[in-house]
Amino acid sequence: MSEKASQRRPALAVQWEELTASDFPKAVRRARKVCVLPMGVIEKHGPHLPLGTDVMAARAAAIRAAEREYAVVFPPYYFGQIYEARHQPGCITIRPELLTELLQEVCAEIARNGFEKVLIVNGHGGNTNWLNFFCQIQLARRNDHVVYIARRQWDEATTKEVAARRKTDSGGHADELETSWMMAIRPDLVQLSRAGREDGRARGRLEHMKDAYTGIWWYADFPDHYAGDARPANAELGELAVKGWATSLAEVIRAVKADRVARKLQEEFHREAGAPLSTAARRKSRRRV
Ligand SMILES: [Zn+2]
Repeated sequence: MSEKASQRRPALAVQWEELTASDFPKAVRRARKVCVLPMGVIEKHGPHLPLGTDVMAARAAAIRAAEREYAVVFPPYYFGQIYEARHQPGCITIRPELLTELLQEVCAEIARNGFEKVLIVNGHGGNTNWLNFFCQIQLARRNDHVVYIARRQWDEATTKEVAARRKTDSGGHADELETSWMMAIRPDLVQLSRAGREDGRARGRLEHMKDAYTGIWWYADFPDHYAGDARPANAELGELAVKGWATSLAEVIRAVKADRVARKLQEEFHREAGAPLSTAARRKSRRRV
């Protein structure tokens, strides 16, 4: 394409907030009605990373993936489950009922704008159980869209390479890997020299209760909201991780685009759920055909 032509026809942005209203319908069509919703929270990330780390990390992977396999990426979404960091400065928590209702409303708004599939990309470990629950309760009512959660972060080869390159094997929060990740995407926001200022080792204060889960478990182990040791972090490891996530995410977007089964099953389920006593009879007559 000549320079003039490319000026006339700029590439379609993947980020919702960067699209014009007039280009929006084209984007929905090109995305085959798939909207990607990267999610994080606002929480402390050790002594050295910014509060918005999870959202930035998930968005970076989602945007790269959507550029590869076109989808529209929803604007930054910061409202998730993060009670366990409420004692730390800058943390934003939303009460559980509103948290769920807000996400429900956002998904409905995405659908009202023409999308039939919402693919949630989670960047925060504390969201996992809540998001799975959110997906389950989508069956509570009839929906004109399907909510999916991207499950896998990396392929097997990336998982092995990341493990081989890491110098620490503990952590999970603001650790070597997450810090490397940020060094790859926002090096200007990483203050690595501060990484040793706090202790990211598990305190084991609930060791005597190994077989019983309780909400205070994370605080019991990591009261400073730092799990691991970020000091060996480096941008190369981070780039490997982000690239791996974007690659497998592009595959998930492709699979979600192609999926014609989930929505049909949802509708069939609701028809049956509306008249459960006829479900068995309907199945029997179907078997006869
Ligand atoms: Zn997090």
